[in-house]
This record gives sequence, structure tokens and C-alpha cells, in this order.
Amino acid sequence: MTTTTTTLAFRLGTPDWERRYPVLIGETTVIGAVFRWHRDWLTLTSEGEHNLGRPEKGRRGVPQAAAQAAAAQVATEYAAGRITAMSLTDVTAAVPVLDGDVPLLHPRMPETPRNVETAQQVMTALAVHRWKPYTGFPGSDNPWWQECELCGWQGPRYWSHQRGRNGELPSTHRHPASAQFGAPAGCVGDTKVRELIAAYGQ
Ligand SMILES: [Zn+2]
Repeated sequence: MTTTTTTLAFRLGTPDWERRYPVLIGETTVIGAVFRWHRDWLTLTSEGEHNLGRPEKGRRGVPQAAAQAAAAQVATEYAAGRITAMSLTDVTAAVPVLDGDVPLLHPRMPETPRNVETAQQVMTALAVHRWKPYTGFPGSDNPWWQECELCGWQGPRYWSHQRGRNGELPSTHRHPASAQFGAPAGCVGDTKVRELIAAYGQ
């Protein structure tokens, strides 16, 4: 997928676990990354993070179009000499490593009373359902690195998908299958999940 601006052609690379798309020129020159955070799109370049706000109407709900539009801005900055190339590692979200207590909120989440209250409720629900978060609460619709305490699986989860719908309990199909974490069938199976998590009752 290549888009041409007046000055240079860029393309989006493969998104990482946080759904950040690297922005590339040619085969290997990385000039930044673009990603969605709640309803906004952000760019990450040698000048740091920059919030572009919500995409134009026709591009909302069409992540590829919104990503292309954000990437075009990065390419324009690069062509103008306002940013410099980076390494792919610089723009790729590292897998978080647990190091002591996890903060309540993700660093990008403002510490408003509402966010604090929501995060406390979510953290309590995660503990009940045996999930270990590796970072603070990023909001319901942003990828959140977690570990399944039933089988050891790790990966990004979205709270909006994890919580039960309409006040019901979450699905016992907790996460995708993964040979890497010894969970070939996707966690430990419905019966065991119900045994191990008291909230499901008997
Ligand atoms: Zn599991």
C-alpha cells in the first residue's frame, strides 16, 4: 500500500501489539509511527508524540484511511526536514515488563475523578477474573497487555471486549489459543475456568 504526496512516497508497516503502524519510506527507512488513542490519532516521530485529534468525517471508523491520513502528515514533516529517521525499535511498543506495582492509570490517561473511579472498578473486576495487568488502565478501547493467571498466556486485551455484555459474566473463552503459553485450546477450557473463578458460581 503506497500513497504518493507531492514530495515522497510512504507506506504503513505492520502494526505492533498496540496497533501502532510504522511509517516507512522505501524499504527500511522508518520516519515515525501513527496510532489511535480513544477517538484521536497520534503521531510518534523524532519530535515526540503529537495528537492530530479526530480524523475527518469520512475517515472515522475506517482505521486504514485514518492511519494513511496521519502517516501523510508524518511524511510531510519528514520532507520538510522537521523530523529525522528513527529505528523500528524506537517506534515499536515494547512488551511491558512487570516491575513492582502497576499504576492505576496508563500514563496517557488524565487523572480525573471519573477515570480513577472507572479504573478502580476495572482493576477489581480483573482481579476477580484472574487477569494480571502489566500497565495502568488505558481506557476501554485501547490495547492493554495482560497475563492470564489461569494458564500464563500473555497478550493485549481490550476491556470493552473482556467485560461481560449487558451485566452478564465475561465469556469463559478468555483469550486466543497459544502454543507459546501452553494454551493450545485457548486457556484451560470452560469447565475449569468456572471451577477456578468463583464469580461464575457452580
Ligand atoms: Zn488462560
